[in-house]
Amino acid sequence: MALSLFQNFSILVAVISITLEFVRSSKVQYQSVIMRRFVLGTVGGLIGILLLMSTVPINSERTIIFDFRFVVMYLSAMYGGFISSIITSVIIAFYRIAVTGANANAIIVSTSILICGVLLGALSHLKVNRSQKFMIMNTVVTLTIITASYLIFDNFYLFIINSLMFTSTTVITSYFLCRYIHFSIANIRNYWQLKIDATTDHLTELANLREFDNRFDELFEQCQENQMPISFLMLDLDHFKMINDTYGHQAGDEVLSELAQILIKSCRSYDLVARIGGEEFAIVLPRCPKETALSIGRRTRQYIEEYIFCKDTHAIRMTVSIGVSSYPNDANDPDKLMALADEALYKAKSAGRNAVVLAQ
Ligand code: GH3
Ligand code: MG
Ligand code: MG
Repeated sequence: MALSLFQNFSILVAVISITLEFVRSSKVQYQSVIMRRFVLGTVGGLIGILLLMSTVPINSERTIIFDFRFVVMYLSAMYGGFISSIITSVIIAFYRIAVTGANANAIIVSTSILICGVLLGALSHLKVNRSQKFMIMNTVVTLTIITASYLIFDNFYLFIINSLMFTSTTVITSYFLCRYIHFSIANIRNYWQLKIDATTDHLTELANLREFDNRFDELFEQCQENQMPISFLMLDLDHFKMINDTYGHQAGDEVLSELAQILIKSCRSYDLVARIGGEEFAIVLPRCPKETALSIGRRTRQYIEEYIFCKDTHAIRMTVSIGVSSYPNDANDPDKLMALADEALYKAKSAGRNAVVLAQ
């Protein structure tokens, strides 16, 4: 029996761990809240089915069985709220009836599961702290189990054994799994935040230099493998130091942020835009031949020349110098492409700035 109990517990922990790993590695945070709740409720229901499939008989007549279904229901309500709780309980209740048929016991059990699901779902939205919520929700689970056991068992001894077994194990397991999920979610949040911090420039929210290096290499390899061109634009704001000196550092920051938005808007979704220095930006254009990159560079230069930065405060005008290089025309690796664009940018600066120069 202990082994079967452990097996039932292991199924629960394994599926929770897989779900958490899926949450960590995918961009679940970008999905809508309703969608997340729906998915969580369904996953909860499926775990409930797995647990019922490997339910543990406590006595030899198999009149008392045990599994962790109420733990799943509690967790589903706790982390997915009302919608999730209802979906999980409906799936478990229907499966319970489907397995044994609609006999009296199955109807009592399924009804108790549904009522418990509704109550847990409603209570999950209580504005109390986590421990209080745990106690209130587990009291409801305990009362549900005791009531259902009372209705099912005529034998007082069986009623007591079943109630004690179900309630104690459910409450203790809920407590530890809740802690496990709570800390895992905190870790996942930290992981995502660190990932964003490590790859994003905090002022402009563009890719930073490290992210740029990694992604440029990836994009270059993809284009090379598919025999596609790839172009590179290096941009540097002209006389940017003067902006800081004249209007202050904050205005300079505002100009950099607005420029980042201009660059993002002038690119396709799969282009890479990055801030690779103080007032230096890079654009990688996969599948873009040199002539097209030149016209994109020219269009961008002209747009920036005509754009008014910090419109509400200082109305600043800026210009930009751009160097352009391309694969396969100019070089066969990303570092060489960058060096050539840098050289072209230097030429644009030397020639008087506000210009786009092609790598030679
Ligand atoms: P050039 O036309 O030759 O590029 O001249 P420039 O003034 O743009 O270039 P320079 O390299 O002389 O100055 C760059 C300035 O950019 C100096 C630095 O204070 C400023 N800068 C770098 N990072 C930031 C930042 O994050 N915010 C602000 N406000 N200024 C920055
Ligand atoms: Mg500059
Ligand atoms: Mg510079």
